[in-house]
Amino acid sequence: MLPEYDEFKRRADAVRMRISAACAASHRDPGGVELLAVTKMFPAAAAEYAARYGLRAVGENRVQEGVEKQAQTTAHVAWELIGHLQSNKARLAAGHFSRIQSADSAKLLAALDRVASELGKTQPVLLQVNSGLDPAKSGVEPGEAGRLLEAALALRHIRVDGLMAIAPLSDDPSVARRAFASLREIRDRLTRESGAALPELSMGMSGDMEAAIGEGSTIVRVGSALFGARA
Ligand SMILES: *Cc1c(COP(=O)(O)O)cnc(C)c1O
Repeated sequence: MLPEYDEFKRRADAVRMRISAACAASHRDPGGVELLAVTKMFPAAAAEYAARYGLRAVGENRVQEGVEKQAQTTAHVAWELIGHLQSNKARLAAGHFSRIQSADSAKLLAALDRVASELGKTQPVLLQVNSGLDPAKSGVEPGEAGRLLEAALALRHIRVDGLMAIAPLSDDPSVARRAFASLREIRDRLTRESGAALPELSMGMSGDMEAAIGEGSTIVRVGSALFGARA
């Protein structure tokens, strides 16, 4: 159930405070951390809340769910895909998402490049890296990230903004922190090796945004802390 807007606003203010506090603790400018509202499993009105609150973008896990919601609202908000994408849905995804944070294979990138070219656009992406080495998570293995970046940089209709990771589920907070630190180290290495700037690090969710910000996150993807528990 989506809360009333006033309740959402209180929650969003609280999330903003958490971001500010985490930034202060690591001497970072809060303007350098974007709050991406994850609207998956909530109705299209959740995207309207995000827009009304002044957020730039929302995140959706599934292509079809995002496409359906976009048809139901005129909210002035960008839509980003944060869930696993199969190459056979590349056309639908490129047509409906301003950025795809979950690019994790050369095959998918080639498919996105092809459809972006046909759509006359450049498709911004983040490369999803399994920096926590979690067998349950998608994302390219850290040792393969350089090759995937190389493949992406060779495509004319793909723009790589940075990297994305999901931390392994664990009761031990140091597990997430290590996964975030690892993503930053991978980014720094790839930047050195390729010269690509890769400014964005999409990492941190409702439960672990502070650790992610401490390790350099520039985008926190937050669902339940904004909208409540998902059904
Ligand atoms: C659901 C989801 C989130 C948000 O998780 P919360 O714990 O609800 O904040 C962030 N990133 C991805 C990839 C997700 O699937």
